[in-house]
Amino acid sequence: MPSVSEHEVIVVGAGPGGATAAAALARAGRDVLLLDRHSFPRDKICGDAVSLGAVRILNDLGMNDQILAARDRGEFYRLDGMRLVSPSGHTLHADFHRGPNDEESYVAPRLFLDATIQQHAVDCGACFRQAEVKEPLLEDGRVAGVVVRQNGSTHTYRAPVVIGADGVTSVITRHLRPEAAQHRDEHRAVALRAYIEGMELFPHKVEFFLYDEVLPGYAWIFPARDKVANIGLGMRLDVFRRHKRNLKQMLHDFWPCRHPCPADQRPHPCATWPPGGSTSVRKPGLQHL
Ligand SMILES: Cc1cc2nc3c(=O)[nH]c(=O)nc-3n(C[C@H](O)[C@H](O)[C@H](O)COP(=O)(O)OP(=O)(O)OC[C@H]3O[C@@H](n4cnc5c(N)ncnc54)[C@H](O)[C@@H]3O)c2cc1C
Repeated sequence: MPSVSEHEVIVVGAGPGGATAAAALARAGRDVLLLDRHSFPRDKICGDAVSLGAVRILNDLGMNDQILAARDRGEFYRLDGMRLVSPSGHTLHADFHRGPNDEESYVAPRLFLDATIQQHAVDCGACFRQAEVKEPLLEDGRVAGVVVRQNGSTHTYRAPVVIGADGVTSVITRHLRPEAAQHRDEHRAVALRAYIEGMELFPHKVEFFLYDEVLPGYAWIFPARDKVANIGLGMRLDVFRRHKRNLKQMLHDFWPCRHPCPADQRPHPCATWPPGGSTSVRKPGLQHL
């Protein structure tokens, strides 16, 4: 028999969405169970840019000290503006404002950002368990909890409220609204992200590049530290299929002509979105962003 335990709220997924919800509920005195298939820290393919609005929400949850400490450790890199380069080569510059309490935006690798928020949720009182949620527990047409695989066995957690924050491949969505998990190619995207060292960058500025081959997607170069950048490109699945290009090759063609970089530098780790997806059109295995 699977074992059973009860909570007031179950949050499935401890990414920024789930961990933020768990922290807010735990601060409000709720008995929260936060579940994720991964332990933290863990990577997530992303541009890593964290907007001022997001930082303000995190500060409202009591994370000001952790954010400043992560900045001082060099994990969060402060931003003060952006550059947007058009297909014809025109560049738009924009300055970022600070928030009313001097908050700033950052490039914060998800390895650090997500672990910081997840730890904050735990510090606020949420109970974290590493477990793979297999399906929602349904009773009389209502969600009454979740069924998980944890340490090699099946376990049932019960709660009157279940928050599905398990990302774009959400098992909760797939079970409750299977039609919402289906998307046309023009509503889905592929992306490739890599970190690269030794690159001359515009300090504290995120850069977006719009050019014919990726439109209506874009490529990005976001500084993660001095001379270290998160670079990548994302494009719509239907366009990707039409062009029949290899994403890795597209990234290799893109970045050297944008910024000087030592010739022996290779992007690492080169990771696709969706995770494990192919970089060529023959085997797409893709999800929407
Ligand atoms: C290539 C790319 C670049 C991006 N760049 C940016 C950017 O620069 N700035 C920005 O703000 N946004 C960016 N985004 C968007 C951003 O990544 C997402 O909006 C964000 O990750 C959503 O957070 P989330 O918590 O909802 O989901 P996620 O971050 O996906 O977290 C979901 C969590 O659920 C867990 N999970 C999933 N299934 C299960 C299961 N069955 N059981 C248990 N746990 C499960 C996962 O392990 C994961 O930890 C980018 C996205 C992509 C794909």
